[in-house]
Amino acid sequence: MSIAERLAEVNRRLTQAATEAGRDPSEVHLVAVSKTKPASMIREAYAAGQRDFGENYAQELRDKTRELADLPDIRWHFIGRLQANKAKYVAPVAYRVHAIDDVETAKSLLAKRDATAGPLTVLVAVNLGGEAQKSGVPPDAVLPLATALQAAGVVVAGLMTLPPDVEDPEAVAPYFEALAGLAERGREAGLPLRELSMGMSHDAHIAVRYGAGYPLWVRVGTAIFGERA
Ligand SMILES: *Cc1c(COP(=O)(O)O)cnc(C)c1O
Repeated sequence: MSIAERLAEVNRRLTQAATEAGRDPSEVHLVAVSKTKPASMIREAYAAGQRDFGENYAQELRDKTRELADLPDIRWHFIGRLQANKAKYVAPVAYRVHAIDDVETAKSLLAKRDATAGPLTVLVAVNLGGEAQKSGVPPDAVLPLATALQAAGVVVAGLMTLPPDVEDPEAVAPYFEALAGLAERGREAGLPLRELSMGMSHDAHIAVRYGAGYPLWVRVGTAIFGERA
């Protein structure tokens, strides 16, 4: 299958899952995760209409934005763990930074953000499984961090999670539900947590069930670009 065909299939499945869940499919936004894949594949997806792309590695993101600078309305989402000393590669080009879990990294990004690139817009990463090897703050630290980020001048658009790896994708449903609940609590507390970032190739169809009424970013790589080496 070509990338255009895979993309169409992913979009078809997302629309179907949203409709089955009674959710407006237009709330579901696909981020095509292109990490480790060549710029030529991104061009193929772009030609098929895809505009949002996700990258995990700061230098790779910088290199690809240079190679693809002729695609004016492409939007880059940084979805990986970010070291503060690499903020300079991400800040100028990121439409969203999905995995912020401390104020310091956000401040490094702010310092490197050019005003012409628009406000720095992030999602707070939440570690719902309490896994030491994963980034993200525990649930009870979300609202204090979001408040501190806002005070620092960052736009906190919402919350992101990478749930524990499980055999049965259905087993992640409680984590997605929990993330939606946390965002709702944040909104009740006056924070503008409208967006959720959750769901990947194997479980995006489950993520679409939660957080209806607000935008959802699903981050799908393998199902569009194939297995990574
Ligand atoms: C790689 C990655 C994805 C995409 O995963 P697939 O299983 O290839 O769809 C999504 N989110 C994050 C944070 C990733 O690192």
